Amino acid sequence: MQINKTLNGLTLKGNSEKKKDCYIITGTLEGDVEVECIKCLKSFKKHIEEEVHYKIVNPPFSGFDEKYDIIEQKKLDIDEILKSEIELIKNDFSNICENCKNNEFNKEF
Ligand SMILES: [Zn+2]
Repeated sequence: MQINKTLNGLTLKGNSEKKKDCYIITGTLEGDVEVECIKCLKSFKKHIEEEVHYKIVNPPFSGFDEKYDIIEQKKLDIDEILKSEIELIKNDFSNICENCKNNEFNKEF
């Protein structure tokens, strides 16, 4: 099944494949997500572009998979996946705006 879904500026494009006990999703996450700078707390848009490999399993799941990011869901829900990805992006401690980045850079010289 083709996936092409956008939530809050973030798009997941790819393919989902139903397996016996899980779904496999491979694709890309791309878009601009509004995040808060950890230094000045101003919000800015962070460009995201990454390949994703998800394995959607029925909870509870206690395994480990080297190849895939495990997501526990009773029912495949792309919106939920996008929501949690956006949360992760927002909570990233490396969210620093251009201004603060430039200030840091100048201080070193
Ligand atoms: Zn800043």
